[in-house]
Amino acid sequence: MTEHSHCAIFTDLDGTLLDHDTYSWAPAAPAIERIKKLGIPLIAISSKTLAELSHINATDHLFDGLIGENGGVIRLGDQTEQPGPATETIDAARDAIRAALSIPVASFRSTSPEIIAAQTGLSPDDAARAGRRHCSDPLIWAPTDKDVTTARTIAETFGLKLVKGGRFHTLCGPTDKGAAMARMLKLLAKNGVLPSTGLTPCTIALGDSANDATMLAAADFPIQIPQKHASTTTALIQDQKLIIAPEPGPSGWNAGINALLDQLTNTNNKSEVLHG
Ligand SMILES: [Mg+2]
Repeated sequence: MTEHSHCAIFTDLDGTLLDHDTYSWAPAAPAIERIKKLGIPLIAISSKTLAELSHINATDHLFDGLIGENGGVIRLGDQTEQPGPATETIDAARDAIRAALSIPVASFRSTSPEIIAAQTGLSPDDAARAGRRHCSDPLIWAPTDKDVTTARTIAETFGLKLVKGGRFHTLCGPTDKGAAMARMLKLLAKNGVLPSTGLTPCTIALGDSANDATMLAAADFPIQIPQKHASTTTALIQDQKLIIAPEPGPSGWNAGINALLDQLTNTNNKSEVLHG
């Protein structure tokens, strides 16, 4: 293999690189140090907002690029792109839901950090960052089933979805971590972080949940991180390439990446993929 290409690593945060309970990535530090030495870009891809991701990166300097709101918004350097729905569409749909229902409807985008903090237990600063949303908006409400049905129908008329997460119904678009990953690869090439000619870069993706499936399916080397509090691990994608890490969270991240790098760097014709 005479032509060189490069790898990029895309990682989910909560429950994947960050421990489900402590939010620490410390057990993944050896693998992170290794990929930094190899010059492999590491991209965060998360349901968090860009404000939350930027805040983490300002102290920890882990990521070369950020993808927030489940693929809805992308940042590389000072460039921001929004493949997700327009912010005005989110606001218009939320206002239409509010107008149609007889119960109070607040949301992260439209309320104060104090109210977000009270709802989530976040600190006021973290709550403010969680509220700085581009293309998705968790609703703060106490709906009946009928209210949810009404809101869902209204969301659809705006081309949006109402997705029930752990605690909140979130108004969002048909965002896709796999599509955002493909877009980020183009930006990395355009900005010289990855070569813009030659072989297609190889991709490694790590995730722990159903919303990571499109990203895992799109990666050359998908690594599933087991969930810390689940009794069993079911494969998120049906693909022979899928690697399931031996442990949950950052320990599994460390083991999965190190094992994969061992395998790739020990295979002669793949070593140039990593070293460029
Ligand atoms: Mg996760």
